[in-house]
Amino acid sequence: MMLVEKQEGDLPIYIIGAGISGLACAKKLKEFGKNVVVLEARSRIGGRIDSRSFGSDGFDLGASWIHGIIDNPIWKITQKNGIETTVFNYDESEYFHSNGEKFSRQEVEEFQSYIKTIEKALSHSNKRSAFDAVKDIISTLTYSGEILPEEYLKELLFSFFERLANDPFATNLELLPANYSNFEGYFLGDEVIFKQGYVQVVNSISHDLNIKLKTTIQQIILEKDYVKIVDHHNNTYLASHLVLTVSAGVLKNNVIQFTPELPKEYTQAIKNIGFGSFNKVFFELKKPLSFQFDASENLNSIFYWSDGICFNILDLSSIYQKPVYLMLFGGRQSDFIDQSSDDEVWMFILDSLAHKVNMLPRKAEKLIITRWGVDEYSYGSFSFPSLAYDSEMIKLFHEPIDNRIYFAGEHCSLNYTGTVHGAYLSGCEVAQKLNS
Ligand SMILES: Cc1cc2nc3c(=O)[nH]c(=O)nc-3n(C[C@H](O)[C@H](O)[C@H](O)COP(=O)(O)OP(=O)(O)OC[C@H]3O[C@@H](n4cnc5c(N)ncnc54)[C@H](O)[C@@H]3O)c2cc1C
Repeated sequence: MMLVEKQEGDLPIYIIGAGISGLACAKKLKEFGKNVVVLEARSRIGGRIDSRSFGSDGFDLGASWIHGIIDNPIWKITQKNGIETTVFNYDESEYFHSNGEKFSRQEVEEFQSYIKTIEKALSHSNKRSAFDAVKDIISTLTYSGEILPEEYLKELLFSFFERLANDPFATNLELLPANYSNFEGYFLGDEVIFKQGYVQVVNSISHDLNIKLKTTIQQIILEKDYVKIVDHHNNTYLASHLVLTVSAGVLKNNVIQFTPELPKEYTQAIKNIGFGSFNKVFFELKKPLSFQFDASENLNSIFYWSDGICFNILDLSSIYQKPVYLMLFGGRQSDFIDQSSDDEVWMFILDSLAHKVNMLPRKAEKLIITRWGVDEYSYGSFSFPSLAYDSEMIKLFHEPIDNRIYFAGEHCSLNYTGTVHGAYLSGCEVAQKLNS
């Protein structure tokens, strides 16, 4: 007993996970003068921020955007460290019908006005599923039928809302509550991306931290006066306190064994958190993608329909100075990507673009596909408000177990779930608690 008490004073605080939340927590704790060690399973830091080089170009395979720069702590970090960013708002999109024809200006206006009407009705809906609510709202609206034929417009609208569930919520409409838009935790202002990768943010906060890579934690044992942590080589670490920042996917998959077991309310909350797959496909072409019926240049974002599915392509050519495009997939399509080969994914994209674009090659110059749903240290991309969502369930993660085991990460954020800034703020909050 005496020995453990004496040890406790000297024991470090251990943080599991060197994603943005773990690093933010470690940095703050170090500033507070604490002895802190980060244990990370991967051979790199950053977690779901993952900037990689392919040839001479860099790609962000995880997070890309600072979602709104006004008051955003991540924006403050980029400013302080002189990190270069570029504005990439994608609210001004072009729309293309299944046959490849571009929406006329009047079609865009009509379509967008119905989207706004439906969004307004949804934000006042309660806990029913967004699928049911969108279906009901679409079927009861009065349509002028002036520009787009009613049945066709209904199909377009429904598939567009399905796409909104995919991106940015990484799921399908059936699994989201109708008022999901209340949970989009973005700051106001421009959205920006990084020319040289999001990892610059991660690097700027990880200086001088004690980080042990390639250390996968398998067991957490809560003793009376300390926490014992066991890694995959059976090494043990004794912690005065532990901050667990692994994703909700890792928690759901019971990768880490807890002794004693986590209290029931925590396991229930872990079960109820929504956590889905969201994947990116970057492709480079020899020649710019040209939609058959379009004369405009410098398209930023294109929505098009194929087989009742609404797709989105982002044009990154101005950033890479060559024809590079990005497609984002969430929910069912992302699950498909997780399980498919590169060729299958590329065929899926080619099929969706058939009859729409001129001369799409059977092979891309460069094809980069993420598969976060099967990533063994993430098991998915980010959390979303599930039908069982309840703010009390998230607040539970703000309560340490026995004042020793703390939780942090994007899934613990009440207002900014699924984002880098949400994860960052969550890590900072836990550091404050441990210093009080
Ligand atoms: C494809 C994609 C696109 C995204 N786009 C954006 C965007 O544009 N803007 C935005 O704001 N957000 C975006 N996000 C979300 C954002 O990336 C995350 O919310 C954020 O990075 C999560 O940080 P975190 O610290 O909570 O978790 P993580 O980054 O997952 O950190 C947890 C760490 O724990 C480690 N770990 C896991 N298991 C163990 C174990 N057993 N032992 C030791 N270590 C372990 C992991 O390797 C990881 O490094 C995106 C995410 C994805 C996947």
